[in-house]
Amino acid sequence: MVVQKMKWEENVRRVAPYVPGEQPKSKNVIKLNTNECPYPPAPGIQRLAEQLDCDSLRLYPDTEAGKLADALCGYYGVSREQLFIGVGSDDVLAMAFQAFFNSDKPVLFPDVTYSFYDVWAELFRIPYERKALDADLRIRKEDYMEENGGIVIPNPNAPTGLFEPVETMEEIIAANPGSVVIVDEAYVDFGGESCLKLVEKHDNLLVVQTFSKSRAMAGMRIGFAMGNPKLIAYLKDVKFSFNSYTMNMPSIECGAEAVRDTEYFKDTVNKIIHTRERIKRELVQMGFRFPDSKANFIFAAHEKAAAKTLFEELKKRGIFVRFWDKPRISNYLRITIGTDKQMDILLQNLKEILAERKFL
Ligand code: PMP
Repeated sequence: MVVQKMKWEENVRRVAPYVPGEQPKSKNVIKLNTNECPYPPAPGIQRLAEQLDCDSLRLYPDTEAGKLADALCGYYGVSREQLFIGVGSDDVLAMAFQAFFNSDKPVLFPDVTYSFYDVWAELFRIPYERKALDADLRIRKEDYMEENGGIVIPNPNAPTGLFEPVETMEEIIAANPGSVVIVDEAYVDFGGESCLKLVEKHDNLLVVQTFSKSRAMAGMRIGFAMGNPKLIAYLKDVKFSFNSYTMNMPSIECGAEAVRDTEYFKDTVNKIIHTRERIKRELVQMGFRFPDSKANFIFAAHEKAAAKTLFEELKKRGIFVRFWDKPRISNYLRITIGTDKQMDILLQNLKEILAERKFL
C-alpha cells in the first residue's frame, strides 16, 4: 500500500524516539530489563498513599515542590538555590540539554551510553559527537578535553556499569570552564561516589540524580539536579518557560517521605549490592565476562553463547533482560539486579539454556 504524503508533513519535526525497555502486561514475568528496584519504596509511602486527601487535588501543586526540595536540601546539604526538581531525571536532563547546550560546537558523550542523549540532541538540534570508549569500555578523559559545546557523562556509565573516580571527573570538569558538564548519577548510590562535593568548587558542574532506581520510585517520576545557583536559575528559566506545574502533589509528598527514611534507603541499596556481588561470582563460573559494575545491573557477555539467543530463550521462559542489536554491544545482555530469589531463577534458567547447547 502506498502511503500518501500529506501536504503539511514537510513542516513536521521528525525524530526517532528513544525506545524504553519493554513493560510486560503479565505480572508473572521476572523483570530484569529496565533497572527498576525489586523492593518496594519506603513503608511510609504506602501509608501516605492510603491517606491521600483527594480534595487537595483540586489545587495546583507547589511549583517549587517545596516539601520535597526541603527534604533533599537537608539530606544532601545543599541550599534551595542549588537544587532543581523534575519529573524523573529524563525531564531534568532534557531541560538541561535545552538550557545549557546552545552552541555550534558539538556536545560530547560516550559512544556506548544512555541512548536518550542523542535523541534529545536530535530533538533540540544540538550538534553532538560520540567519543569511543576504550577496549575495556572505559571513557578516555582526554576525549573530553577538546573544544566542545557541553559534556554529558553518566557515572557509573550505562549500560556498562563502570564507575570513574571522582578525581577523573574533576579533571574533565576543570578542563572545561567554558562548558557545562552534566554528570548523570542515576546509578551512583549502588557503590559509586557522587560528584556533588565538587559543585561548590566548579560552577560548570550539574549533578543529576533520580528516585527511579535506589529509591524504588520509577513510577512516581522524580529526578533532581544540584549545581551552582546560577546554573540552577537558568534551568528554572527553561522549566518555567515550558510548564510550571511539572511535579504533581502525590509525588512531592511521597518523595519527601522517601528521603526522610534514610535507614530503609540504605538497607535496600545494600541488599542490591550484596546480590550483585554474589551474581558476579556465579556468572563468571558460567563463562560470562563483564565490566565490574557499580550499578544495579551487570553488562555481561558469554564466551560462547550469543547474547541474542540467550535474550530470546530467557524471554520464552518469562525472564526479561535487555539486549541491543547494535554495533559494539550486540554480544552483551544487561541484567538488572533483582531479589535473590529472582536471580536464582535467572541463573538456573541460564544454566539450562547453556547446557542444552553444550556450552556448559
Ligand atoms: N540516566 C540514565 C543513565 C538512565 O539509565 C536512566 C533510566 N532509564 C535515566 C537517566 C532516567 O531515569 P528517570 O527518568 O526514571 O529518572
